[in-house]
Amino acid sequence: MSGNRKTLVPATARTDLQLIELFSSLQGEGLHIGRREIFLRLAGCNLGCAYCDTPYAAGDVWTVEREPGSGRFESYPNPASLERCLDILDDWCDRGSGLHSALNLTGGEPLLQGEALQTWVPELRQRLPIHLETNGSLPAALSPLLPFLSFLSIDLKLADTCEEPTPWDCHREFLRLACHKPGQVKLVVGPAQGEQELLKAVRLVADEAPGYPIILQPLTEKGRPSVSGEHLLRLQEIAAAIHPETLVIPQVHPLLNLA
Ligand code: SF4
Repeated sequence: MSGNRKTLVPATARTDLQLIELFSSLQGEGLHIGRREIFLRLAGCNLGCAYCDTPYAAGDVWTVEREPGSGRFESYPNPASLERCLDILDDWCDRGSGLHSALNLTGGEPLLQGEALQTWVPELRQRLPIHLETNGSLPAALSPLLPFLSFLSIDLKLADTCEEPTPWDCHREFLRLACHKPGQVKLVVGPAQGEQELLKAVRLVADEAPGYPIILQPLTEKGRPSVSGEHLLRLQEIAAAIHPETLVIPQVHPLLNLA
C-alpha cells in the first residue's frame, strides 16, 4: 500500500459536506465487530499514514448504495446537502427497522468538516446512535459534537507504523475531551512497530482515558495480518502491564469477503 497525499477539503457552503460514500455493512474492527452499521464516509484527511488505502480525496460526486448492503451504487453531486442524506437514511431506516445499530461517521478524517457536522449530527442522531471513527488529532472540532456521539473509536497514530510523526499533544487533548463518552482506542501495529513507542501510547491512554480499552490491530496486507503472532503477544504483554484492558483484534472484513 502506498502513502496517500494529505488532502484538505475544498470550501463548500457551511452546512454541506464533501462526501465519499454512504453504504451499509458490518463493522469490521474493534469492539463492535459484526454489528451492522450505516457508514457515512467523509472526504479529506489531515494525516498521511504510509499504510492508508482509504479513498478519501474529494471528488465531483459521492456514491450511495441503491439498496442497503447491495453493493450497487448510484452517484450524487458533491457537496452533499443534509436534506438529501436524511431522505436516504429515513428510507433505509423504514425498510430495515432494527437492522442497523449505528450510523458511523468515518473518513478520511470526519472532523476536518466539523463545522458542517455541527448541523448534521443533531439531525442524524434522531435516526440512529452516532459513532465516530477518527484519527484523534483535531480536538477543537470534537467538543461541539460530543453531546451527540454515542461511541468514539480513536486511532492513535504510531510513527513506527504510520511513518509520520505522531501528533502526541493533539492525541492527549483529544483523549481528555473524549474520555467521558463510551469509546475505544485503536493502535494499528505493523511489523516495524517498536515497544518504546507503543508504551508511550499506552501510558497516554492510561493517563487520559483509563476507561477506554486499547485495541491492538495488526496491519492488514493482502487480506492477512502482517505481524507475527509472537510479536503481537509481546506487544500485548507490555501494554497490558500498564493498561490491562488491551485486546488484539484484527480487521475481519477480508475474512468475510467484504471491502
Ligand atoms: S488517518 Fe486514516 S484516512 Fe487519514 S491517512 Fe491515516 S489511515 Fe488514511
